[in-house]
Amino acid sequence: MKIAVLAVQGDFAEHKKMLENLGASCVELRKKEDLFQKYDGIILPGGESTVQGKLLRELDMFDSLKRQIEDGLPVMATCAGLILLAENIENDDRKYLKTLPVTVKRNAYGRQLGSFHAENEFKGLCIIPMTFIRAPYIKSVSDEVEILAKENEHIVAVRYMNQLAMSFHPELDEDERVHKYFMEMVQEYKKILACCTH
Ligand code: GLN
Repeated sequence: MKIAVLAVQGDFAEHKKMLENLGASCVELRKKEDLFQKYDGIILPGGESTVQGKLLRELDMFDSLKRQIEDGLPVMATCAGLILLAENIENDDRKYLKTLPVTVKRNAYGRQLGSFHAENEFKGLCIIPMTFIRAPYIKSVSDEVEILAKENEHIVAVRYMNQLAMSFHPELDEDERVHKYFMEMVQEYKKILACCTH
């Protein structure tokens, strides 16, 4: 299984490390040509969504990336990555890939509670650790979006078809279950593709 990790900014190295520990091979997406390789899933890491969004446009990677996600390639997005996917951002006029029908609020926990650690239930995985860093949360979702986790009444993880997105950073904790969950999504996708091409 080959996973592409968007590597223009943010904590992509931690995702790579965790995926490689779990037996996946990884490629970094740093420039447009990198998007023409063959891979089975994409990671959009945490960092700064405004910077990542700007770089995706400057590097001319934006449209190809959006198309791959719209075509069904599994994607896992954390924190800034969630903001990149969101159809709407409540407190910002900027919008990015708009493939995920949710409204997010950026820096939703304010300055004082900028970073914190919690443990909450994640659907199908029991209780998992959650590290939040200047995190967004999800204000609202459209009907087809499955809510996977909440922190203090606020939605912090969702799944919508091939898209898995969360406010927190599973790559910064030792627990590997969220990445495993994503790798299972990728495995399912590979199976479906194999059926279609035979
Ligand atoms: N606050 C950042 C943003 O708005 C996200 C923070 C993160 O990815 N840890 O893009």
